[in-house]
Amino acid sequence: MLSFGVMTRLATTGEVLQLIRSGEAVTRADIGRVTGLSRPAVVHRVTELLQRGLVAEDAEGPSTGGRPPVRLRFNARGGFVPVASLGASRTQIAVCDLSGAILDRTEVVIDVEEGPGVVLPLVMDTWDKLLNGRAPVVGIGLGVPATVEFAAGRTESARVMAGWTGVEIPPLIAARYPVPVLVDNDVNVIAMGEHRVAYATELDDLLFVKVSTRIGAGVISGGSILRGALGAAGEIGHIPVRDGGGVLCRCGNIDCVDSVASGTAILRDLRANGRDVHSLADVTALVRAGDAQTMAVVRQAGRWLGEVISGAVNLLNPSVVVLGGDVAEVFQPLVSGVREVVYRRSTQLATRTLRIERSRLGPAAGLTGSALLVTDRILAPEAI
Ligand SMILES: [Zn+2]
Repeated sequence: MLSFGVMTRLATTGEVLQLIRSGEAVTRADIGRVTGLSRPAVVHRVTELLQRGLVAEDAEGPSTGGRPPVRLRFNARGGFVPVASLGASRTQIAVCDLSGAILDRTEVVIDVEEGPGVVLPLVMDTWDKLLNGRAPVVGIGLGVPATVEFAAGRTESARVMAGWTGVEIPPLIAARYPVPVLVDNDVNVIAMGEHRVAYATELDDLLFVKVSTRIGAGVISGGSILRGALGAAGEIGHIPVRDGGGVLCRCGNIDCVDSVASGTAILRDLRANGRDVHSLADVTALVRAGDAQTMAVVRQAGRWLGEVISGAVNLLNPSVVVLGGDVAEVFQPLVSGVREVVYRRSTQLATRTLRIERSRLGPAAGLTGSALLVTDRILAPEAI
């Protein structure tokens, strides 16, 4: 919400766009009333937005007897945002509009360990095909399975992506697409997409926990991603649990929640019990079939996960904890374990109205979140 009541300066074109996007002012007369701008100044700013394709006119609106006022609306198709969500073995690639809606998407199977020199050209070739001549491209968004120093778009301590450690991704893409390129941790963009599409109208504080091959979290606090000093906030996978059995984690510590409750750990535990499971899809199938041993293993993973989530709930006081990722497909036993521990361990005030839910968007959240990262930047009042 913009307030011009106490402003001494004049509203900018970017602020006028903000009013139209939010629906606060949708006619030239409204804009004049809200901003105090003169009629010629309003016309000047609106004309600029129309020329840039960011706003369109609809010849409707409530009639007051004479000619109905022309309504202005944000033109989500005024630009296009190629996005990609890199995974360990699969990468999702899409083109979104300025509202974050996915226009076209595809998935390519590629080992991310092949490194940026192989993966990024493939992603860019795929964008070319998906764009199919659509223009202008206004920005590019990427989610990567690594800690990202957000300001530089540089991947750090990328244990999953050894060949990417220290790589600054934006210049590699901007050489071919000369537009703003924003890179963030994959779970951060998923949390952002999930929040904005499914929850933004009802709440501002959300903790997203992704349980797949690995465990990570994204924090939405006061409506924005909480990144921390360098972008490493939300790395809950390497918080240790009690009584984990002494499992050595790939980070070198013992009993990190990632080493005892991730999809990888669930598969390892089932195999140790002589079960013939090869993928998380096998685990999902066994849970759906009501296999008691598999349910017990998943539920125990949920309890360990609940330990670190209860700490996060005490620290952050989210309105909702959203569980996503492949393991969340077997939501019931997992969430039973999580609830059992969170409601026992977290403070009463933090859990009084706390909800624990399954992701509503699924894998699409990361693509939409990557696009919103870009549009928030390029459509911000100061950027227009
Ligand atoms: Zn660890």
